[in-house]
Amino acid sequence: MIKRNEIKNEDKWSVESIFKNDQEWQDEIKKLEKDLEVILKFKGKLDSSSKIIKELLETDISFSKRLDKIYLYAHMKNDEDLKNDVYKSFYDNAMNLYTKYMETTSWIIPELLKIENDKIKKFLKSDDLKPYDFYLTKILRQKEHILNENEEKILSMLANVFSTTYDSFKSINDCDFKFGYILDGSNNKLNITHGTYYLYLINKDRNIRKNAFCQYHKKYEEYTTTIASLLYGKIKEHVFEAKVRNFKDTLSAALFSNNIDTAVYMNLIKTVKENISILHEFIDYRKKKMKLEELHLYDMYVPFIETPDIKYSFDEAKKLLFDAVKPLGNEYSTILQNGIEKEKWVDKYENENKRSGAYSTGCYDSYPYILMNYNNTLNSVRTLAHEAGHSMHSYLSNKNQDFLYAKYPIFLAEVASTFNEELLNNYLINTTDNKKQIAYLLNSRLDEIRTTLFRQTMFAEFELFIHQSVENNIPLNYKLLNDEYIKLNKFYFGNEVIIDDEIAVEWARIPHFYYNYYVYQYATGISAAISLYKNVINESNNNKDQYINFLKSGGSEYPLDILNKAGVDMTASKPVSDAINYFKDLLYKLIEIED
Ligand SMILES: [Zn+2]
Repeated sequence: MIKRNEIKNEDKWSVESIFKNDQEWQDEIKKLEKDLEVILKFKGKLDSSSKIIKELLETDISFSKRLDKIYLYAHMKNDEDLKNDVYKSFYDNAMNLYTKYMETTSWIIPELLKIENDKIKKFLKSDDLKPYDFYLTKILRQKEHILNENEEKILSMLANVFSTTYDSFKSINDCDFKFGYILDGSNNKLNITHGTYYLYLINKDRNIRKNAFCQYHKKYEEYTTTIASLLYGKIKEHVFEAKVRNFKDTLSAALFSNNIDTAVYMNLIKTVKENISILHEFIDYRKKKMKLEELHLYDMYVPFIETPDIKYSFDEAKKLLFDAVKPLGNEYSTILQNGIEKEKWVDKYENENKRSGAYSTGCYDSYPYILMNYNNTLNSVRTLAHEAGHSMHSYLSNKNQDFLYAKYPIFLAEVASTFNEELLNNYLINTTDNKKQIAYLLNSRLDEIRTTLFRQTMFAEFELFIHQSVENNIPLNYKLLNDEYIKLNKFYFGNEVIIDDEIAVEWARIPHFYYNYYVYQYATGISAAISLYKNVINESNNNKDQYINFLKSGGSEYPLDILNKAGVDMTASKPVSDAINYFKDLLYKLIEIED
């Protein structure tokens, strides 16, 4: 494979615009390490005046900005070639400095929370702190859930103990488990790992799919008692933490920091369930197209529409993207085009030991870079559109918000990327007469919505069930978990699918269930994106500006407020039903074109 130093300069990201060279980076990391100590001179003084708090925040921000640049450079250089020892040590040094920064600043929030209510309220009204009002309010609203100093100390020590459950799950799942192999039609051994499992599920040979599915889940079946008790341990931790911190329940506790109304969660589940028949129609269509007597769960991922064999060079991909985002207006197009062509945001191609996959990265004072392993497929074009969505969101937020308000929360993170995928997909559909390609494009969006909206909502419902069980003193054992999981699968997949027994233990292999109400954000994210997309495409110019303003908002308000301003109310069912109706339209178009 091609080596890093053989990649043309024009195909690499412009990491040199962060630091001119390694020496500059090394000088800066040494300097910042020394400078950090300055922050300690504010310790014990925060309750003396609003001016002191302002000075502290300004100092902290200037250090954070410098630290982010140091970290960014190291992580990008490291990802360019994971076997390069120099950059590996850069990365380690950056991480160490980050830890040191955390230690040096860990006293700030507790000290802010200790200031008497009347006093801090007065401070907040001062001109000094006006620019920091939302930032400080977010910190101060934690107050009623913070315990006294000693109790907090015990809790932070306990965190270390609690981490055992998830660590054990990861050890057993990533290290101990050996899934063995299956045989293909010519008696070749096919090794099963987490990575290859998905490849076997999209294999055209049904026996490979079936055997991989059975063998993979068999391992979890053998250990289901142990894994059930690990998951039980984790959920008990969530319940414990919600209780000691005075939250009504685990859901309110988990949604508190982003100020998400629990209605958003409940509404998502309710709306998806009320409309589940459209998912069943899509699955029935799969069964019909695959001409199967019985549709099993291991038949659910194999493509039933041929992937068109069209290759796109990076330049062609870029052109498609620029054309696709035209509905967003001049400002958006110009920045993106300039970013990719002149500022060199994208590290385009694979090289030896380069980080796999794709992501968007950057910091407040840098370009929003994109790492890719572009390989000329339609999928790669889509990845470029997706990551460009993230990068444009970062760019516009960084340019329009102060440092503390520029970063957008996870709840909003996938909106801009999904939006761009919709733009690209529809642009491609509208500019081709090739029916096969249109069918492929429609189906790939349908699959995306199936796995992101419907499947993640099923997960969210399971997560709610396990938390509520423990809240009601019902212990989690494998029998309870299996029964619930089968029940959910029957409901979500519908009657035309054979719900194979093996699926009962699928819950045991999903790390997200340890994350404390995380997955619902995939479902709300795609719903918000589609709802916004519909607004922008179908309606007035005003809607486009609303969307651009959304991209400029970063984290300047709570996520639901930001979405509200863009015209999407996530506490109502409309965004989710918008997404489901969109799914329906795509499905009927697909049926029409294929029949
Ligand atoms: Zn993404």
